[in-house]
Amino acid sequence: MERFYPRFIVIHHTAGHDVSALQINRIHAARGFGVKITEPLSLVEEYRERGFPCCNGGVVISIGYHYLIRADGSVEKGRPDFAPGAHCTASGMNMRSIGIALTGNFSSRDNPSGKKGHPEPTAAQLKALKKLVSFLMDVYSIPPSGVLGHSKVPGARTECPGDRFVFSF
Ligand SMILES: [Zn+2]
Repeated sequence: MERFYPRFIVIHHTAGHDVSALQINRIHAARGFGVKITEPLSLVEEYRERGFPCCNGGVVISIGYHYLIRADGSVEKGRPDFAPGAHCTASGMNMRSIGIALTGNFSSRDNPSGKKGHPEPTAAQLKALKKLVSFLMDVYSIPPSGVLGHSKVPGARTECPGDRFVFSF
């Protein structure tokens, strides 16, 4: 697997209920865009302990995002930062960006009554997102213009992360 250096951060909603990264991993596994991680060993161990499936000396990570932010504000690691994502094909973003998803469905059209997940980001999610985005911007020297909602990526045809998602620095 070729390692990459992120130049953007793309923000999503999962368009669903508040479930763990491991549960999303199982759903995304069916799509077949998983990456196999064989090093560092400590990282492989960490994923195995969390329940990610093993394969010949490594672990397969299928969740498309690099980070998942749960309704209670906890941050769960998806793919390692250095692995290509499977969250945004527009503008080649899978090879250029860190993908962060908030659980919930923030589209008033798709989820008017909250049956498909909590209908707007929780305060805890927004607080955690702000902290995570600031951290990643520092680590990778990403300017504010490099932080985009999925629908703001040129060429993306999606309403993700939904009209009820409002985020500012
Ligand atoms: Zn999205």
